Amino acid sequence: MDRSFANQLDVPEDHAAIREGVRAVVSRFDDEYWLARDDDGEFPREFHRAMADAGWLGITMPEEFGGAGLGVTEAAIMMHEVASHGGGMTSASAVHINLFGPHPIVVKGTDEQKRRWVPRLVSGEDQCCFGFTEPDAGLNTTRIKTFAEKVPGGYLVHGQKVWTSTAQVANKIMLLTRTTKFEDCKRPTDGITIFYTDLDRAKIEVRRIPKMGRKAVDSNAIFIDGLFIPEADRIGEEGKGFSYILHSLNPERILIAVEAIGIGQDALRRATRYARERVCSIGRSARTRRSSIRLPRNGCIWSQPG
Ligand SMILES: Cc1cc2nc3c(=O)[nH]c(=O)nc-3n(C[C@H](O)[C@H](O)[C@H](O)COP(=O)(O)OP(=O)(O)OC[C@H]3O[C@@H](n4cnc5c(N)ncnc54)[C@H](O)[C@@H]3O)c2cc1C
Repeated sequence: MDRSFANQLDVPEDHAAIREGVRAVVSRFDDEYWLARDDDGEFPREFHRAMADAGWLGITMPEEFGGAGLGVTEAAIMMHEVASHGGGMTSASAVHINLFGPHPIVVKGTDEQKRRWVPRLVSGEDQCCFGFTEPDAGLNTTRIKTFAEKVPGGYLVHGQKVWTSTAQVANKIMLLTRTTKFEDCKRPTDGITIFYTDLDRAKIEVRRIPKMGRKAVDSNAIFIDGLFIPEADRIGEEGKGFSYILHSLNPERILIAVEAIGIGQDALRRATRYARERVCSIGRSARTRRSSIRLPRNGCIWSQPG
């Protein structure tokens, strides 16, 4: 397609290689596959595995921990391609969480933490969900109430999150908490602490939220009751977590936007193809009527009634 995203960007050769490499994986999963996932609501594990095996889950992760060390432009090209082959937001959401979601670890984690966590994310062995949003603190993140109380060796967490994507299938959670109450902080963004830890289902209840769009990538309400998080699972300094999550959220917005563009272009391609191939008629069979008109641009045959 001449007006493809790649051409508009005038991308260099390696960007074209990214697009082709991603396409080679994504195009193995046809419309029937995505329709089946939309019917049964099951996470697209085969797709996730195939993307991990081909190395795409590590595109933005540091090379020394198994990733490709590339940036937001390359990730955007990858996600545009992922979203352009029928899987839409289901295919995109199954993998995009891997690209910048774990960036607080990359930017603020210790070497030991990166060694412990990043290679397993890149290989797809670990799947991570993100517990940021709360029922009473949507976009106003500083109003979260989930609280991590300091105890010997770590923290004890109580609270609630909502819209946590993939919590049905994840074994890890990146969790945003308060370690100082909002009222006791100088600035609203102070007192927020971020952890990356095991999603311990004995202490975290995960309730699926029924929904129509993107059915196969689950959305959940989660209830945390006495989750112990070891100190070794805290990312960066206590109370500084708000600035850390921006390393995830800002580039993620770019990925979401480019995925929407890919889905729109895919829809347009399909609609154009359908309009070209379709034979439509009004009244009696168009093929048998002299008054039939073949529309030159889309191949449709119209027959005038009467
Ligand atoms: C499909 C999906 C997947 C998601 N996955 C995750 C996930 O994995 N992890 C996670 O943590 N979150 C997730 N989210 C949550 C998402 O990040 C939130 O929807 C987002 O933070 C907005 O919160 P909210 O829906 O409560 O909206 P609100 O905060 O209620 O905002 C809705 C609108 O109202 C406006 N508004 C709000 N308050 C005011 C006010 N006082 N005055 C004027 N305007 C106001 C806002 O600007 C916004 O336009 C997901 C959401 C969706 C839809």
